[in-house]
Amino acid sequence: MAIFFFVDGIDTFAILTIHMAKIHDTSKSTLALRKRKRFLLSQIQVLSDCLRASLVERYSPCGKANCHCHQGGAKHGPFYYLTQCLAVGKINKFLLKTPAQQQAAKGGIESYRQLQEQLEELSQINAELLRREESLSGD
Ligand SMILES: [Zn+2]
Repeated sequence: MAIFFFVDGIDTFAILTIHMAKIHDTSKSTLALRKRKRFLLSQIQVLSDCLRASLVERYSPCGKANCHCHQGGAKHGPFYYLTQCLAVGKINKFLLKTPAQQQAAKGGIESYRQLQEQLEELSQINAELLRREESLSGD
């Protein structure tokens, strides 16, 4: 599932996974929020393949000047890269060579995304409870 595409002049990229915070409904009763919180806490688990990264699909021209890819033909690919933004301007990026690596990356990214989504919802509920001058601990 490609969500975002960009072209940098030579290569075509598609970022296949990108995640952003979802806004959860915190307008429910305090009782309902606490119930949802208990449920989330019972669901949250850190899976061992957890991976905070993006998968990038890339098509590139090759090194042969007479190849069709330099004459307006299709570029080579897809190549799959894992990219990890570690800090501003500091990106860890490498090629996922085998289908097994690509699958492992997809699975790990999904595990991380799920955990992050659950933590985000818990966090939004806690913020709402605080706003209502409720306790964050206990039921
Ligand atoms: Zn080529």
